[in-house]
Amino acid sequence: MVEGMQSVSQVTSWLVAGRTLFLGIHILGVACFACIVAKRLVPLLRAERDFRFDKPLARLQKVFKFWLGQWKHPRYKTAGTLHILIFAGFILLAMRAFMVLIVGVSRNFVMPGLSGRAGDIYGIITDYAATVVFLCMVFAVIRRLVFKPARYEVPARFGKAHTADAVFLLALIAILMVADSLFEAAKVAGQAQQGQPVETLAVLSLPWILRIVLLPAALATIGKVYAGAYLLHEVTFYFLLCYRPFGIQFHVETSLFNVYFAKLDREILKPVRWGVSDEHLDQVKSFGVKTFEDFTWKHMLDFYSCADCGRCSDNCPSNAVGRPLSPRFLTIKARDYAFQHYPMFGHSGNSSSSSNSKPLIGHLYSEDEIWSCTTCGACEEECPLLVEYIDKIVDLRRGLIDDGNVPQSLQKPLKALESRGNPYGKMEKKKADWANAKEFQQVCQVKTLGKSNGADTLYFVDSITSYDDRMQSIGRATAKILDHVGENFGILGAAERDSGHEARRFGEELLFTALRDHNVDAIKASGVKRIVTADPHAFNALRHDYKDVPEVEHISQVIAREVKSGKIKFNPVENGDKIYTYHDPCYLGRHNQVYDDPRDVLDAIPGLKRVEMSRCRDRSFCCGGGGLMLFYEPKEEQRMGVKRVQMAADAGANVIVTACPFCMVNIEDAIKVAGLEGKMTAIDLAELVDQEMVRDEQKAV
Ligand code: SF4
Ligand code: SF4
Repeated sequence: MVEGMQSVSQVTSWLVAGRTLFLGIHILGVACFACIVAKRLVPLLRAERDFRFDKPLARLQKVFKFWLGQWKHPRYKTAGTLHILIFAGFILLAMRAFMVLIVGVSRNFVMPGLSGRAGDIYGIITDYAATVVFLCMVFAVIRRLVFKPARYEVPARFGKAHTADAVFLLALIAILMVADSLFEAAKVAGQAQQGQPVETLAVLSLPWILRIVLLPAALATIGKVYAGAYLLHEVTFYFLLCYRPFGIQFHVETSLFNVYFAKLDREILKPVRWGVSDEHLDQVKSFGVKTFEDFTWKHMLDFYSCADCGRCSDNCPSNAVGRPLSPRFLTIKARDYAFQHYPMFGHSGNSSSSSNSKPLIGHLYSEDEIWSCTTCGACEEECPLLVEYIDKIVDLRRGLIDDGNVPQSLQKPLKALESRGNPYGKMEKKKADWANAKEFQQVCQVKTLGKSNGADTLYFVDSITSYDDRMQSIGRATAKILDHVGENFGILGAAERDSGHEARRFGEELLFTALRDHNVDAIKASGVKRIVTADPHAFNALRHDYKDVPEVEHISQVIAREVKSGKIKFNPVENGDKIYTYHDPCYLGRHNQVYDDPRDVLDAIPGLKRVEMSRCRDRSFCCGGGGLMLFYEPKEEQRMGVKRVQMAADAGANVIVTACPFCMVNIEDAIKVAGLEGKMTAIDLAELVDQEMVRDEQKAV
């Protein structure tokens, strides 16, 4: 402490010695914070189980990448840069804040390792950190109030905007930075006034500027500023600490834990109940999430951790086309519900028994909202805090299905899946008709696997390619490619049931397990060593939802490999006017990270001109959902497929290549709806490869 200017621990205010006053503030602040956090933990303790305590190293890696490394923030350049600067500032200032707090009760406290030169360097770094955080707060307030980014808007149907709360918190942080800087500046100004050796302040930093302002003042005034700045720092610090758990800033405390406990295998759907195996599912009394307490503790932690940044909804195709779903508000509504039903004072509104809790559907969420999701994963891909959505939505659907609330349009396909093993209600014996057509058999023989008819590779066709007249062309192209590269392959024919991928994502877990078990038995009986499919939904199911089946590949991966090996060569494309663009199917791209193989294949075709859409790869825009989404008619202002086709047109493309039969249905339909027939076409990658590859003897069907 500077001689002639009392240490803050010695200053007497309101007849109370500084040390006593600040000790009291510390104890009160920490106690209040502990009580508030304990209250916030109550719903988590009443929630469903969730096993997130495995693989600590993998979890720590996530923390380093996504929390400390702020990995996803640069996806939004301005907001991301702002957040990274603020976060880095907070991390750097954490130790300084601790030291400043202790100085109030122990005048000569210095953090071990931070005396002398190291302390000077740390002081300079933190001077700049405080300045940067302060400037970021000013900029963030201006951005919120003047520029008002659209993604922060709150549509009336989702409640009120939280702008005032956000601005208040930003202002509090700015005040904290000013108080911290003023405290430093007053200390150094006091040292200078008395001819003492002065601590170095970072040039042009906030403390440096404030010191210049203070220097002409009398020592007594500087002493008062010094003590006042300290008190302001203390009060603001603890007020912020205790106020944050009441709103979006709670993520400052919870985000580290949220990232640590984030799902390690995002592609694998959450089980109906953690700790209950499929064999014991019939003993589960109630499926899915029906009340708030049916969410798992981790899903509740997600609600607390959301920063309300709006990135999830900004990328959600359902939100973009005006469906009644915006993922951000699934979370915000649940957090508001938690705060309301588990208040700080008094008893919580819900009893610990979920039977007394209010049903979420009808109160917090609407049925349409929950059925509107295509499970495309764009929200999860974007969220910087790794908030999960698909598991929650599927759990809510499981609850709806369990209560018999199945949308009218889905009842028929679900029944058909149960009775016939496909959503179209077609006969099993017709499953291989696409391969048995005479003309096709003349160019490609596809064997149906059986006891006397084995093969190395199974081509898993799935329902849409087997039964839909248009999509059968994808099946034939796939078979011809496999034949061309010399693959010893076959199909299951009538023994193949729908993969169940969509049934599972629509909440029909028991139906899914029945379909899966049947297919697993058939696959095992066929004796194949590997599986290939051209349907990303089947690919995802076989890869992540099935167990004990051979390795599975998507046909685009097979083609890419065989292009590299030289087995597949291409003729130059004939029509030079065609500009191609590749649409990433969600279940090939985002859910399985197959982005490059289809592009490599396209780029290997001589003369093919390819452009990228603005939303591509992990930011691809869902075509409208596959599987059972084809049977569901959501309320929407515009079709997702139409929006996607317009994106292709905006990119200058006139041919959309995709690698999924469901995308093909939606995109071809959207081309008609958008009035682009004759100007835009769609083709599956397998069809294009079949069309353009060099054959020893030209074969065509
Ligand atoms: S999974 Fe896709 S459709 Fe569903 S909420 Fe997320 S972004 Fe929206
Ligand atoms: S869930 Fe994630 S992306 Fe969505 S608003 Fe919250 S923090 Fe932002």
